[in-house]
Amino acid sequence: MQPQKHILAFDDLPILLRQWLRSKAVIGPLARQDQPGFYYFDWIDPADADVERLAERLASGYVTTTIPPKKAFFPTRETLFNFAAAGPVVPKNEEHQEPFLLIGVHPCDLAALSLLDTAYAHPPADGPWRKRRSPATVVGIDCLPDQYCFCTSMETSGSRDACDLFLTPITSGFLAEIYSEKGKDLLRGIRTEPAQPRDIQEGEEFLHKKEAAITLSLQAGSEEFAEILDTVDLTEVWEQTAQRCYSCGSCNTTCPTCFCFDVEDTLDTNLTSGRRYRSWGSCQLLEFTLLAGGANTRGERRQRVAHRWYRKFLYLYKQFGHSFCTGCGRCSRACTADINIVDVSNDLIKRAKEKR
Ligand code: SF4
Ligand code: SF4
Repeated sequence: MQPQKHILAFDDLPILLRQWLRSKAVIGPLARQDQPGFYYFDWIDPADADVERLAERLASGYVTTTIPPKKAFFPTRETLFNFAAAGPVVPKNEEHQEPFLLIGVHPCDLAALSLLDTAYAHPPADGPWRKRRSPATVVGIDCLPDQYCFCTSMETSGSRDACDLFLTPITSGFLAEIYSEKGKDLLRGIRTEPAQPRDIQEGEEFLHKKEAAITLSLQAGSEEFAEILDTVDLTEVWEQTAQRCYSCGSCNTTCPTCFCFDVEDTLDTNLTSGRRYRSWGSCQLLEFTLLAGGANTRGERRQRVAHRWYRKFLYLYKQFGHSFCTGCGRCSRACTADINIVDVSNDLIKRAKEKR
């Protein structure tokens, strides 16, 4: 869809944020008080919101959050249903979900939401994801890269997927691109001017400047990388990487496209009622593939390390036609062993080319 483009004055963003906070629940990037320079997505308390600081954060291209915004739709832990010895089981995803607003989502994370929309729509469609996604409105915002970003390699630097409204800071204010009726509604009550050709050009220049500032890149495109993983024996790289990896699972926990979860039942003390939870899973943990009786299909660390790459760049590429990596760099930032996904991927690519 070709978006309508308007200019929103910088001074009007705090007004708009107040308006949004009055009408809906809002989740957005907040600054960590205990760790300056780190950000996290959370519900914003309208009574407590420092709207000026939030507007400033959005305008200045805040650093990527540690945990991705998927948690708005896929909480780290949630109850799927309550059960009792007598009475029906009512899935929580059939309960009503109030509309809410997710703001400040960077382009790579918009691409990730779109990938998760695809994965969770695949039969059997995921009820809890759909329940939250349908009534939500998403506001994207452009960003500045750090030394871990490689979104250009994954073609997500300019993504507008899954967003209703997208903001780019330029000289005259925010270039506001409207992608849906919900996005249009968000600007109601605020005076905006139609964007002029020079504003649109400045928006494009912002993207080019961002792309030029990205220092990391994969040495193969998605199709070639998938083909390498599919056809070349790269055991030595898995073994070397596994020697450094602690199997801590931080790479999965921070990944915006990881969608595996664990399911657990708990009984109340009366032993007649309880609930079923699901919580984020991690294929890097030993327990992930532990089977009844003690067998484990990926009991060796190198198998788990290899699986992460096969899953992101081969299996899901084959299934959906896209790598399930957006180049956000979170796994590299969070890795306790300083394993950088780009370095390992380029090592795989280099060795595969040498073997051919
Ligand atoms: S694999 Fe790493 S770089 Fe790719 S989307 Fe996940 S966290 Fe981001
Ligand atoms: S974050 Fe690093 S150390 Fe932890 S499991 Fe992932 S690759 Fe291994």
